[in-house]
Amino acid sequence: MTRVVAIASQKGGVGKTTTAINVAAVLAQTKRKVLAIDLDSQANLTCGVGLDPQQQSRGIYAVLLGLATLDEVIQPSGAGFDVVCANQNLTGAQVELLNVTKREYLLNNALSALRNTYNWVLLDCPPSLNIVTINALVAADGVIVPTQTEFFAMQGLVDLLRTIGEIRRNFNPNLKLNGILRTMHDTRNKLNREVASQLKEFMGEDVYRTIVPRNVRLAEATSHGKSVLAYDKMCAGSLAYTAFTGELLSQEPLT
Ligand code: ATP
Ligand code: MG
Repeated sequence: MTRVVAIASQKGGVGKTTTAINVAAVLAQTKRKVLAIDLDSQANLTCGVGLDPQQQSRGIYAVLLGLATLDEVIQPSGAGFDVVCANQNLTGAQVELLNVTKREYLLNNALSALRNTYNWVLLDCPPSLNIVTINALVAADGVIVPTQTEFFAMQGLVDLLRTIGEIRRNFNPNLKLNGILRTMHDTRNKLNREVASQLKEFMGEDVYRTIVPRNVRLAEATSHGKSVLAYDKMCAGSLAYTAFTGELLSQEPLT
């Protein structure tokens, strides 16, 4: 069975792409077959696995536009999992898809052919609620919401939870909230500690136990086109993403 999980937040820079790459790498290490799809025209996931977006003439854009099938654009990443790249073209998809019927289901339809090839498909969403994000949430079984332990965290969360509710009502009644992942946490920072515990207090079981610390190795790994496991296996970032992936797997015991 394939689990399709969107990593989403309308807020920018909260650790979506870092989470997608490193959860994919940890899952791949456990011999699961994993596909990560870059749905952001910034193409950070594409770069973060060592590929050059400028060299990607097709990628997810071509799939959404009906110019290619998913299996034609899947490529190995060198990090143990497969990827579908993004590039700048994706910016135009918003307008180009305006008159396409059932345009919310394009990714879901494309993925249906692959549902048994992969154990996990991770969807790295852009930081906005555009048609590409909607496609991700319509195709997904669940959503992981990375959240910084900063002052405006709650607002970002409220926005995303509202979006999930709307997608459930209109397109995908089975969409579940996998959970909220606290990221970039600095235990020495009082505000970070307060927000981290408030999130747990208000959202309870929906908040993962694992907290990803602020760890420069995570940023360095991505800038070298590597997962943090490949870059520095024992750093705090590696340990956190390994623990987090364990939690994710315990939610989905059959995958
Ligand atoms: P966007 O909304 O722009 O897509 P994002 O939510 O995908 O952003 P990332 O790109 O994963 O966020 O992270 C933003 C920046 O913070 C990146 O430079 C990344 O390397 C860095 N970063 C992410 N997580 C951590 C962490 N735990 N510790 C230190 N730096 C981090
Ligand atoms: Mg990103």
